[in-house]
Amino acid sequence: MSSSFLDRPFLEASAANGFAGNNFDRQSEHRAEHAVEIALGSPDARIHLFCEDRALVKISPEPQAAFSVNEAEAIGFDPATLILLGFLGAEPRLAAMAIPQAEWPEPLRAIDLRSLAVQGLLSAEDLGGLAQARSLLAWHQNHRFCARCGSETEMRAGGVKRHCPSCEREHFPRTDPVVIMLVIDPAQNHDACLLGRQHRFQPGMYSALAGFLEPGETIEAAVRREIAEEAGIRTGRVRYHSSQPWPFVSSLMIGCHAEAASNEITRDESELEDCRWFTRDEVHRMLTGTHPDGLTAPPEMAIAHRLIADWADWAEGK
Ligand SMILES: [Zn+2]
Repeated sequence: MSSSFLDRPFLEASAANGFAGNNFDRQSEHRAEHAVEIALGSPDARIHLFCEDRALVKISPEPQAAFSVNEAEAIGFDPATLILLGFLGAEPRLAAMAIPQAEWPEPLRAIDLRSLAVQGLLSAEDLGGLAQARSLLAWHQNHRFCARCGSETEMRAGGVKRHCPSCEREHFPRTDPVVIMLVIDPAQNHDACLLGRQHRFQPGMYSALAGFLEPGETIEAAVRREIAEEAGIRTGRVRYHSSQPWPFVSSLMIGCHAEAASNEITRDESELEDCRWFTRDEVHRMLTGTHPDGLTAPPEMAIAHRLIADWADWAEGK
């Protein structure tokens, strides 16, 4: 038996997914009411700034997206939107909406989070911080009024919740679970997987099927329902693989491998432009950009890439 669960050279599968590097000590349960003001008083405080759904990044000399209070004030932000994400050691990390500008002065750029993750410009930690910031800032923007009584609500404790002064209800940010699954066919010797194309995908790209978990469902039930709805295939065993925060705007992707119990495809034409079985060889070519028809898999930062790549390696006995 190994000496400990934690001291092995063991990498959690989720750690390889983009936006998964957020290790902030959030202290959500132990915050002062004026947590933001206290944090701003620290010389180590750093602030992520957003312009709509894009993060502001100082592109040179080194790409960085965490600004000192002075830098953030020079750029300009709305103090009413300031939230405290948590702490990196003694360093408070905050986020706010920037004052929009028609053009950002050099070397600032407003870059969407998907591009930042694909390009690998920032550390995994900063990317994870930006993901939390984007989801939380959007939640506050969209929850200014009480869902119970309609009164205007107030941000509390640096943004971990909102309070309704009229009916006293407290509102907490939510995360929307999405299942994403790679279906593998045992009737084809586990040597074929099911991939589909949504109409909005870039040309030639195929990915794992995905869909929102519905109230009252287990992860496994949602996987089976989505596969049946989108591809008309019955599903047997389902195995959890890893998860990925997905800040578009506040989802958690729950990745699974699933075993097909039938393999004749009936595609949902409104959801999918195409859906078919791919052999392991073909998938290897898609992952390495050598497919003869130019077909591709999602980029490395995406959980779909990991689901596909791990199956391709596992099928080879790696
Ligand atoms: Zn209320």
